[in-house]
Amino acid sequence: MPAGGGGSEVVLLMGPPGAGKGTQAALLAEARDLRKLSTGDMLRGHVERGTELGVRAKSLMDRGQLVPDELIVAMVKSELDGMGTVRALLDGFPRTPGQAEALDELLGDEGAALTAAVALEVDEDELVRRLEGRARQEGRSDDNEAIIRNRMEVYRKQTRPLFDYYEQRGKLERVSGMGSVDDVFERITGVLP
Ligand code: AMP
Repeated sequence: MPAGGGGSEVVLLMGPPGAGKGTQAALLAEARDLRKLSTGDMLRGHVERGTELGVRAKSLMDRGQLVPDELIVAMVKSELDGMGTVRALLDGFPRTPGQAEALDELLGDEGAALTAAVALEVDEDELVRRLEGRARQEGRSDDNEAIIRNRMEVYRKQTRPLFDYYEQRGKLERVSGMGSVDDVFERITGVLP
């Protein structure tokens, strides 16, 4: 299928912390001419700039807890507004059923629809190994062991229920996130229309 066909396309990537969402999101956005919207990156930008949102988000992020839905949805809405034809790769959003419903509404308002929800699945031991490596390399303040555990727990409780949400709508694509970056990328592109 030709990348960047010009019509609307919205792909979302879900997966536990360390599943490789960020890496795959960057590759997919490039290959399919999609704008990458990473709520984690956007929030880290707010923290760095010291905005009001950044100040509110920082302590939650440092504890591995989620930032409230209304703040996240407003942030995403401002990115989608004025995009014209929506071509987006959503990385780390939605993370809760409330955000998923808000996304459906936002896309409806823009005359767009979700193309697919890709769920990256990786063994928990492998996740911890990857996250500890990332903590050493990038020095992210939310990558120490206790916080990693908490983020996984938050993922299980608040984000996993989205699998059902998208499965019921015929949008869920489960993809193994094990193996090399190239292998995972090929698997993802293989499930996209
Ligand atoms: P990430 O880089 O996607 O792992 O996000 C880092 C942190 O930012 C998360 O642990 C949350 O505290 C916050 N965050 C990112 N995206 C969201 C979201 N969609 N909803 C709530 N909190 C988020």
